[in-house]
Amino acid sequence: MRFIEALKLRSKLFFLFVLITLGLVFVGIVGASYINAMKKNMDSLYFGSLVPVTELNEILQTYHSGISDPIYKASRQEISTLQTTQKIEKSLQYINKKWESYISHYKNEEEVAYVEYVDMELTSTNKAFNKIIGFLKSGGNPKNIALNRVEDKIFKMHGVLKKLINYEVNVAQYERKKFLNKYDDIALNVGLTLIFVIIAVLVISMYVFKSIQQDHTKLHDIAKKLRKANKKLENASYTDSLTGLYNRRYFNHIYERELKRAKRNKTYITFMMLDIDYFKQYNDTYGHVEGDFALKSVAKVLKDTLKRPSDYVFRLGGEEFGVLLSETNETDSANLARTLCQSVKDRELKHEKSKANEFVTVSVGVVCCIADDALDDEIMISRADEMLYKAKEGGRDRYQITTNVTLAKTISA
Ligand code: GH3
Ligand code: MG
Ligand code: MG
Repeated sequence: MRFIEALKLRSKLFFLFVLITLGLVFVGIVGASYINAMKKNMDSLYFGSLVPVTELNEILQTYHSGISDPIYKASRQEISTLQTTQKIEKSLQYINKKWESYISHYKNEEEVAYVEYVDMELTSTNKAFNKIIGFLKSGGNPKNIALNRVEDKIFKMHGVLKKLINYEVNVAQYERKKFLNKYDDIALNVGLTLIFVIIAVLVISMYVFKSIQQDHTKLHDIAKKLRKANKKLENASYTDSLTGLYNRRYFNHIYERELKRAKRNKTYITFMMLDIDYFKQYNDTYGHVEGDFALKSVAKVLKDTLKRPSDYVFRLGGEEFGVLLSETNETDSANLARTLCQSVKDRELKHEKSKANEFVTVSVGVVCCIADDALDDEIMISRADEMLYKAKEGGRDRYQITTNVTLAKTISA
């Protein structure tokens, strides 16, 4: 059954269809052959028994009514000689015709011997009646016919034919019994064939359906793996590989979404721009590997400090980071910015070339405001950039905050 598993779903269903069709054709052929055999049986039953019995009865009847009766009537002069001879001649012709028809039917060996005997008797009896016709035609008196001899002949013929009729009836009964037995056999055979075909179709269908189910499970597993891979890919597409923070691309997406939400709800939105102080010098002093380590350390501080589900931390590029907060007022935003500066410093990453501190520090530009429809999407970024510049100018290792976004809009305009 391995080949079923190798088939495609459509081929599997087609295979099942072919199988059922073949099964039905097979049952049809078997059924038809049995019905044909049954037809032959019925045919032989009818023609082999019924017709011969009828013919023999007719012959018997004709001997009585067509030959014996006219002779008696002629002897009592109730009918004319001519009428008598005509009736006997006609009856003999009829008897011969019926007898020829009877012997033309199939006879078994046992029957043939007795039929030959009856044939002899019939020929000799008919000869005797032909003699009577000859006697009457030559002007003989019907009264002189030996009626007792006629009676003997008819009586003998009656006995012989009756025996043959009984034989045919026995044969018919035997054939009927045989037919009924055969009918039971046929019904049993057709039933068994049907059960066999149904079981075969059932077993193979089970294999096919099991295989379909396996395909389905495989497909399900593949879809699951694909979903997982997609998720991974999606994560990779918005994650910065060095720090594990969200990247600039994701920032663009989240920034737009969070700003819209804040505008809709008229709530606080805070954007911070962070930049490591004198990082060029840091790289120059300690090398890029140490530089990367410092970047990761700052990223960790940001992640560890901003833990609310609505807090977003991004690496916007180089040694520049972005923070987006929802529903955080000016005081809290300022406190957070201060905490970030302090926490970075507390990591105590030695930076001997820094003019701000002996350790690595960051400067932060913060914009915090209640969002409304008038708030321009770009303004927050440019204002945060301005604040960062101010923090740098003010001596670095500090934050600069503003809540005024409209003024900035006027300035940039
Ligand atoms: P300031 O205090 O004004 O910010 O001075 P700065 O030296 O930090 O400013 P600047 O923008 O001139 O230098 C940024 C430096 O950051 C330049 C580059 O060497 C370094 N840098 C940017 N991206 C990476 C990075 O992925 N890894 C490392 N190790 N260094 C980076
Ligand atoms: Mg920079
Ligand atoms: Mg810098």
